[in-house]
Amino acid sequence: MTNRGRGVDLSVVVPMFDEQEVLPIFYPRMRNALDQLDLTYEVIAVDDGSRDGTARYTESTRAGWPELRLVRLLRNSGHQAAIGAGLACSRGDFAITIDADSQDPPEAIGPMFALAKAQHLDVVYGVREDRSSDSWGKRVSAGFYYRLMRRLVGSQLPSDAGDFRLMSRRVLQAIERQPQAGRIYRLIVPWLGFPSQNYGYVRERRAAGRTKYPLSRMIALGWDSVTAFSAAPLRLAT
Ligand code: UDP
Ligand code: MG
Repeated sequence: MTNRGRGVDLSVVVPMFDEQEVLPIFYPRMRNALDQLDLTYEVIAVDDGSRDGTARYTESTRAGWPELRLVRLLRNSGHQAAIGAGLACSRGDFAITIDADSQDPPEAIGPMFALAKAQHLDVVYGVREDRSSDSWGKRVSAGFYYRLMRRLVGSQLPSDAGDFRLMSRRVLQAIERQPQAGRIYRLIVPWLGFPSQNYGYVRERRAAGRTKYPLSRMIALGWDSVTAFSAAPLRLAT
């Protein structure tokens, strides 16, 4: 990974898997939010092997929005891998990762960036204050996941922080130095322990399209999370 170039104040990394339906809502909203801020930015759309028109739509939007960049993965590699690819290409002093479906409000980026600057923070976690837009199953599984992960990673792990997170270049460089393959960013970043604060936001409903996180993928994320931070599965096997 080479990302030494410090071209802009902020990189916005957006993983996308079959998000064509949501992009006509997402791109204008994101652009409007970012253009109001007094900073230079780039938006990195990471097409995670989409089978729909995600890449095509992004290319045509790019024609009128030079700050938008497109990174294409050859095949569907999963949310965390897509985030990693986008961060690896990012050139900002800070980078923020955000979902394409508008569940994380782009309008929160400005206040999160301002908080990091004012308090000299390396990390600002977007923390979900209200999960009422999530299904019952999602709320229960998320509650279990965060309780378990706090035991494994430590109490510095903010509960209900997903991948809406602002990170400084210092943090990105520290992540790069971690040998771990298949990084789970929401665990590694708190584990590193840089100065951080939470920023509460209300998670919105998906603006269009369907979730790309069926139960099987949530279970896979849970399993990868446990094996990344605990030897218990290995001990069990031996
Ligand atoms: N995503 C991705 N690759 C995948 C699955 C999801 O890049 O294999 C992206 C997806 O396009 C979205 C984000 O990850 O921008 C979160 O996915 P989603 O909104 O479907 O998950 P949920 O909010 O339902 O947990
Ligand atoms: Mg979503």
